[in-house]
Amino acid sequence: MSAKEVRTIGFIGAGNMPQSILGGMIKGGYPAKHVLASNPSRPKLDLLEEKYGIYTSQDNHEIARKADVIVLSVKPQLMREVCEDLAAHVPDLDKKLIVSIAAGLRFARYYEFLGDDITLIRCMPNTPSLVGAGVSGLVADGKATTADKDFVTQVFDYVGLTIWLDEEDAIDVLGAVAGSGPAYFFEFMHGLQRAAEELGFDAEQARAMVQQTALGAAKMACESDLSLIELRKQVTSKGGSTAKGIEVYQNAELTDISKRAVEAAVARNQEMA
Ligand code: NAD
Repeated sequence: MSAKEVRTIGFIGAGNMPQSILGGMIKGGYPAKHVLASNPSRPKLDLLEEKYGIYTSQDNHEIARKADVIVLSVKPQLMREVCEDLAAHVPDLDKKLIVSIAAGLRFARYYEFLGDDITLIRCMPNTPSLVGAGVSGLVADGKATTADKDFVTQVFDYVGLTIWLDEEDAIDVLGAVAGSGPAYFFEFMHGLQRAAEELGFDAEQARAMVQQTALGAAKMACESDLSLIELRKQVTSKGGSTAKGIEVYQNAELTDISKRAVEAAVARNQEMA
């Protein structure tokens, strides 16, 4: 493995998503003394200190001052207030790398809140980051260096796959596929579980059967060089039972339904930007 760069990284806001990220980093061997987090409530910070051995504070300014890389991890609706407060109290923000994991907000808004001189990378992680199987979409502004991008790749690689995007708009699409995607899969899995239950299985067995099948299919997709359609064909013998089931999905235009679902989510992401 190539040598990993260590920078002091400070999470502003210590909710579910930053906890997944910093938890993954520390589990993966990133030194805890270089991970900081701030949050208004002390009990949450005490838990983080205990679990991960990181330094925490209720003072956003302190964490931002100590950090080389500031990860803005508050809800989008709080971003203006939190950023303007940092801009007023933390010197040399332009010398730090700023990363935002907030959904929606465009680069232009951060320049408005923090000043034009900042270096910013936007990231859209997804919830499977919690189990180390996330997808993080990343887009950098023109000031981010290769070293900045490599560092951020390293951080998000701890919790899954990182995908760099050339255009800021592409993050809306990535969000609609990978960000919302777990919900689509859960919905589909729930449908299969319900079907098994209605045909006589108890809930526990039905769920176990569905989740293991989903995991197996995902693993096969990950490990195979075949296209998804080829993999599907391999389990669909002509005239067999799977062919009958697939026919129902095709008649209901499942592929078109997925496209419409993604388009609806992209449109909503654009509205919220
Ligand atoms: P969350 O509600 O779990 O956490 C937000 C945290 O911010 C809370 O702990 C809250 O106490 C803290 N906070 C509130 N005011 C604060 C302030 N003034 N200063 C510092 N901290 C403050 O939310 P989350 O799920 O961790 O989401 C955080 C960010 O990540 C959001 O911007 C969200 O858009 C983004 N995101 C989340 C997901 C996800 O799946 N959860 C996916 C992609 C992006």
